[in-house]
Amino acid sequence: MIATTNQIEVHKVKESRIPQVDWDNLGFGTVFSDHMFVVEYRDGAWQKPEIKPYGTIAFSPAISALHYGQAIFEGLKAFRNDKGEIRVFRPERNAARLNKSAKRLSMPEYPVESFVEAIQQLVELDQEWVPNGAGQALYIRPHMFAIDEYVGVRPSQSYMFVMFTCPVGKYYTGEVKVKVEREYTRAARGGAGNAKAAGNYGAALMASAQAQQDGYNQLLWTDSSSHEFIEESGTMNVIFRKGNTLFTPAVSDSILDGVTRESVLQIAKDWGYTVEERKVSVVEVIEAIKNNELDEAFGAGTAATIAPIRVINYDGSDFTLRPYTEWEFAPKISEYLDQLKRGLQEDTHQWNKRVI
Ligand SMILES: *Cc1c(COP(=O)(O)O)cnc(C)c1O
Repeated sequence: MIATTNQIEVHKVKESRIPQVDWDNLGFGTVFSDHMFVVEYRDGAWQKPEIKPYGTIAFSPAISALHYGQAIFEGLKAFRNDKGEIRVFRPERNAARLNKSAKRLSMPEYPVESFVEAIQQLVELDQEWVPNGAGQALYIRPHMFAIDEYVGVRPSQSYMFVMFTCPVGKYYTGEVKVKVEREYTRAARGGAGNAKAAGNYGAALMASAQAQQDGYNQLLWTDSSSHEFIEESGTMNVIFRKGNTLFTPAVSDSILDGVTRESVLQIAKDWGYTVEERKVSVVEVIEAIKNNELDEAFGAGTAATIAPIRVINYDGSDFTLRPYTEWEFAPKISEYLDQLKRGLQEDTHQWNKRVI
């Protein structure tokens, strides 16, 4: 079946795979909805966009994304409430960040309005795939990669921009243990750490795997030159609380500018907390835990939303915060953000994009 809606050509699946979904065991990123959005960039312009059945795409093994890493992605979510309404959280922000990443990797930008329109149509078409259980959402994965069939190092002249979606459950369960990484680096000054570039994640896998072998869920990355300042936690931004003050590493070219981070900080200000975006040293955090002054530490990112950090390992010793049940801010913001995204809180900053 072919229907054209606002210039996106839509080819629907003959039969939905919905009946095969085990809604109680979604996991994260293993179940794929019926459709995907695809558009190619050639001859200096974006071509006709399509929504079509989710499935494999055939490529030459010579495409440059595979060899030189011109590949970027985004991650955002759509939420359903009990009334059947569906909203996407801050899609314009992800569109803008995709373009920032594109620029950094010499890739073409995709118009913000077209990005939002594509999400709107894709989510509307696959609305039955948006779950509404506790912690559940429809994860949307936009990504762009170079498809020139050419084995020379230069910016590709052709690209593919694809979005598929996954109904997902909770990302982490419970409190996490992190280890301060002082040997490897995720991103260096002048590098592409503030782009959601695929290569950043591949380069971080070995260090993360080692930490996991040692019994930690994630790393607490430090700066590449001194390893004294905290950058991020795994693939999340990290935020700390001491009394009425929230503090977090200021974004830089080695820190990804997270939408969750920005949203949490804005709401904290609305609630009357003091917010500090600055350098945060490992020693400052460890000393605060030792003195029983660090009230909370958590990761912030779209996948997990808020991941409470209970244990921080530093140079071989574990430092433990009070139990999450005694925390004040993280539980409150988790609940608030979940309700806001489902349309059950007043959307004071107009962050939600209503799909249905
Ligand atoms: C995606 C990502 C984040 C979180 O960004 P959100 O927009 O909140 O999802 C933080 N750090 C890294 C390295 C990331 O890739």
